[in-house]
Amino acid sequence: MALIDLKSLDKASLEEFVKKERLPAFRARQLIHWIYEKNVTGVGDITEFSKPLREKLAGKARISGLAVKKRFASEDGTEKYLLELEDGNQVECVLIGTEAPPGEEDGSREKFTLCVSSQVGCAMGCRFCLTGEMGFIRDLRPHEIVEQALCVQRLIQPRKITNIVFMGMGEPLNNLANVAEALRRLTEFMRFSGRRITLSTSGIVPGILELPRSAPSVNLAVSLNATTDEVRSRIMPVNRKYGLAALLKALRQFPLSGRSRITFEYVLLGGVNDSDEDAARLIKLLRGLPAKVNLIPFNAHEGAGFSAPSPERVLAFQKILTDARMTAFIRKSKGTDILAACGQLKAAYM
Ligand code: SF4
Repeated sequence: MALIDLKSLDKASLEEFVKKERLPAFRARQLIHWIYEKNVTGVGDITEFSKPLREKLAGKARISGLAVKKRFASEDGTEKYLLELEDGNQVECVLIGTEAPPGEEDGSREKFTLCVSSQVGCAMGCRFCLTGEMGFIRDLRPHEIVEQALCVQRLIQPRKITNIVFMGMGEPLNNLANVAEALRRLTEFMRFSGRRITLSTSGIVPGILELPRSAPSVNLAVSLNATTDEVRSRIMPVNRKYGLAALLKALRQFPLSGRSRITFEYVLLGGVNDSDEDAARLIKLLRGLPAKVNLIPFNAHEGAGFSAPSPERVLAFQKILTDARMTAFIRKSKGTDILAACGQLKAAYM
């Protein structure tokens, strides 16, 4: 008989499993604690259980994991992991170390952000993105998403992942049910604060409206990248279905708690979306929205069909935004030497 993968079970199914095994209900809580907080990889490692109980469980259940196929280290400290799923498909995730901004230190100046994948490949076909080029293979299941965090956490001990962003391979809102369950496990089982998790979307309007209803509250980021429908549809095909007006209308309805803001990612493509007029239109589009803009100068790569903007252009674009009292940061891409930067996740896989 095939062993039951405990990691593939949600809370209700774990409770059901425990009941079926005629174990007291608190064993389900203990299993969650050992799998998601203690991060064990085998039933035999649950030392809180007696030896006979561990042996009994080992005959019925297992705890799945991802195989680390490759680990790349960038000169700037960024690390990329190529992880193999049980069906042989592979995904990538990236660990980015940064200094926490003053006031957000939580006792440590270092922040380790893990960028996780939500799908194998991606169907969205954004023109500036290498993952988009590989097409869609399949959705990741909840435990395959959460396991990226557990697996990397085991590897980087004693360092600790402090933040999680859904910005790796895939469009998370195209896999909303599984992503929502993964978010529940990250927040409830692994006790990650929702304030330290960011989900990034290319702009799937129904998903933006559904997210607050079906998942724990997390930060939202939108990959915007253009200020007219004409340009956005050209570089992001999703815009042909959900244009800028519909997208911004949905974002205005998105519930934000306290001082939180929506992050707008804006990849600056030389001569495409980096003009003064674009900056002025961006201000107009985001007026009245609690927003912060991340400007990401494009990483030119072979065959991309786009070029990087000049550093002067990037600064001039930012200045127009900040002069209008918008919060706008220039994000230096990390891990470009190992193809771990934004929009570059696919190289090792292919
Ligand atoms: S940018 Fe994101 S949504 Fe667009 S193709 Fe790449 S992975 Fe998919």
